Amino acid sequence: MANQVLKGHGFSRADNAAKSIWASAPEGSFASPAPRVRVEAMKEYHPPLGSRDALRLDFNENTVACSPRVREVLGRVSAGSLTRYPEREPVEAIVAAHLGLAAEQVALTNGVDEAIHVLFETFLEAGDELLLPVPTYTMYEVYASATDARVVTVQAADDLQFPFERLLAAIAPRTKIIAIANPNSPSGSVATRAQLLELARRAPQAVLFVDEAYFHFHGETLMDLIGVVPNLVVARTFSKAYGLAGLRLGLLAGPAELMKWVRRVLSPYSVNSLALACLPPALEDTAYIDWYAGEVLAGRAEFEAALDAVHVRRWPSQANFVLVEIGAQHAEFVRLMRNAGVLVRDRSSDPGCDGRVRITIGTREQMKQAVVALNQTMAALREGKETK
Ligand code: PMP
Repeated sequence: MANQVLKGHGFSRADNAAKSIWASAPEGSFASPAPRVRVEAMKEYHPPLGSRDALRLDFNENTVACSPRVREVLGRVSAGSLTRYPEREPVEAIVAAHLGLAAEQVALTNGVDEAIHVLFETFLEAGDELLLPVPTYTMYEVYASATDARVVTVQAADDLQFPFERLLAAIAPRTKIIAIANPNSPSGSVATRAQLLELARRAPQAVLFVDEAYFHFHGETLMDLIGVVPNLVVARTFSKAYGLAGLRLGLLAGPAELMKWVRRVLSPYSVNSLALACLPPALEDTAYIDWYAGEVLAGRAEFEAALDAVHVRRWPSQANFVLVEIGAQHAEFVRLMRNAGVLVRDRSSDPGCDGRVRITIGTREQMKQAVVALNQTMAALREGKETK
């Protein structure tokens, strides 16, 4: 009886006949469906998220917590409210007002990762080019590789400064998106407003995508030019300064004429109701963000001084992390730092980053612990070298 079948788990456990058809089929007679050729060629991307029970200086997250106002709202979310599909428009209007934009110019996303994915799906046609300075955020290449577009990279010089002139020279008629993380990761370097505007002007057929994930640690933005520069699209995340990486919240801002295409691709429900509930209090508590960014900037200065004291090369950073040169012992450095209770991220496989490690900056107090771990680790590495 149907009622019996639906009891408990809601499906029948007794359909052994169906199971046996597949179990007894000769090998190869049910070959699994092949993915698109492009997908088959994609590289796997597994962020090393396992066992992170230590000081988390590996993913550029907020290292403390979100605003207490957000936690309060989270605690008040009713079970009943979860029965409804999330309604993003009212919250999009609040976010747009916060940014000084019109609601049609802003789309909320499931983290900036979804923003990148949707933007690329919206604009990259077969034969188009995505232009990227490298090293940069890995997911640009990952999502582009699932499209039929070509990725054109411009390698930064050893100083890892923004390769502006060479990017300009790489603009071609098929350039469709130019993706710039500003500040960039893993280098922490920045492009100037004038450089970004020149790129937008010289590639009117392309979207200039400026990823401002680390905006709160840098303070410079192009957000005020949304709708003024017709091909400018800016992303922001709530995963970094706001401390909401687990909620998955990001946004895309662009001219209404471009955002209307983005909205066709974007799932109407990809931002869940908990995230939507938390966004207004997160935006309102500007004092919390100012406090956290202040801690990071002070912590960064102290940590940079500690790096200089042990003669570890570093790149100037405008974000909540610092890239350092460890050399051949990079994996050992990461291991010893972990033993000392501090997680850091090996960036050796990034283009032009062999031997380099990225260290997230947390609060001043946390960076004191990081300095102790750094000093111990460098002493151990140098001692090891001498005895070899
Ligand atoms: N952009 C950049 C430059 C990043 O470094 C990151 C996080 N590592 C992201 C986007 C992803 O942000 P989100 O958590 O919002 O997907």
